[in-house]
Amino acid sequence: MIIAFDADDTLWVNEPYFREAEAALLEMLSRYYPGEDLLDRLYQQEIKNLNIFGYGAKAFTLSMIESAIELSHGKVSGSEIQRIIDLGRGIMSQPVKLLKGVEETIKQMSSEHQLMLITKGDLFDQESKIARSGLADYFRIIEVVSEKDEATYNQLLIKHNIQPDQFWMVGNSLRSDVLPIVELGGQAVHIPCDVGWVHEHVDVDESTRQTYHELTCIDQLPELISKTA
Ligand SMILES: [Mg+2]
Repeated sequence: MIIAFDADDTLWVNEPYFREAEAALLEMLSRYYPGEDLLDRLYQQEIKNLNIFGYGAKAFTLSMIESAIELSHGKVSGSEIQRIIDLGRGIMSQPVKLLKGVEETIKQMSSEHQLMLITKGDLFDQESKIARSGLADYFRIIEVVSEKDEATYNQLLIKHNIQPDQFWMVGNSLRSDVLPIVELGGQAVHIPCDVGWVHEHVDVDESTRQTYHELTCIDQLPELISKTA
């Protein structure tokens, strides 16, 4: 059995750092742009940039800068741009804070199963976080990918010679960690996180909900796998 984990907001805190930077940006821009749709405008910019800049803090920083320029009609100052860059730097230099139960669970499971880490985003940032997490040695395979969709997972399964029915994926995002795995015939475990990114949100109906497992904390995972597998 191969057990794969998402990293951001599954193993460690990530999204809250983005939301903090976003709140600081909104405050900075409020004097240039009174509209209530400020947050939405930033999100639209992020989505527009995804295909070019990809996921992660650096892409987010560029989107924040672009939004600031656009929404202030070019009036945002050099020192304010610097402040936005500092907000982005702040996201990337946060200490890696493991979520509840992660260290014990990963350690325990690594002695019974082959563990894999599959994360998307900026390669440099993700490699840095993996190294700083102290968890790297527990994973037999670590993959940083640019998108987590069915095609990517299929390629990874082929690359590592893994049968879908031998594959479990655990993560906080239905869109990126759960639904593609269900489609491929693997077992998926959703562990929702308090703070989410709207891009990762999907509504699922009751019949879809039956196709994956849902836990409230990663420490429930060993029992679920031993009962199911
Ligand atoms: Mg995640």
